[in-house]
Amino acid sequence: MSGEFCVVCGRTDLPLVDAVCADCFVQSHALLTAVESPTVVICPTCGARRVGAHWERSGASELMGAEDLAPMVAVHPEAGVRRIEWTETGLNPMLRELEGVAQVRFRGTERTLPVHLTVKIEHRTCEECSRRTGRYYTAIIQLRGPEGRNRLPPRELRTILWEMFERVFKEARADWKKALSWKEELPEGWDFYVTDTLAARALARLLKSRLGAEFKESATLWGRKKGKDVYRVTLCLRVPLATTKPPADVESPGGAARPARGSPRLGSSRSA
Ligand SMILES: [Zn+2]
Ligand SMILES: [Zn+2]
Repeated sequence: MSGEFCVVCGRTDLPLVDAVCADCFVQSHALLTAVESPTVVICPTCGARRVGAHWERSGASELMGAEDLAPMVAVHPEAGVRRIEWTETGLNPMLRELEGVAQVRFRGTERTLPVHLTVKIEHRTCEECSRRTGRYYTAIIQLRGPEGRNRLPPRELRTILWEMFERVFKEARADWKKALSWKEELPEGWDFYVTDTLAARALARLLKSRLGAEFKESATLWGRKKGKDVYRVTLCLRVPLATTKPPADVESPGGAARPARGSPRLGSSRSA
């Protein structure tokens, strides 16, 4: 022994860091802390969890499990968590109280530490379920060819429009993209269902300017909420396709050949 002792408890038989033993360090420093406002976003229909921009673990239980809770505990850089056993206390379904008993390794020894979490539960329908069941939307963006003189077969028209849409969509802000719920193919083009009207309008304006489209907005009464009329908005974009269409069959003698369908640049757009 070099005669060094812990400045807090005076023990001489333990390794010291900055003159403090591990036991005393733990008294004044939390090895585990709850992250700020821990929240779990759950799809109430299928149980999927929202992780970043994605939904995962469809079919998972509504109960908070280790997978949900692990990211909510911040661990001291010198410590390592071996496992945490969680028990739900409390009865509020939207604000879950969880008591954890953690096995933590710290400076060569393992210790048992309690950790408490108050987890806010947010219910949001995942994209998959809103597509399947809820069909919740507040706005539709209709992407169409030019009025009247559209002679393209539906599939070809949709391929062209989809390619245009995809190109512009890349520029869209993340929250506009997120608001896009599902799309439907129609003989006259595409319908995009959007869960946020402001995002839909912003996206429609971007499409209008990038594609030189005609833009028309209309609203239909959908219902009443908190004493106010709620409208669903339809944003119709008509894209001029004249320049993307091959010229009329001037060059085909006999009139048997029709203008080349589907120029090579259309490639293999998917409509899944
Ligand atoms: Zn000590
Ligand atoms: Zn779901």
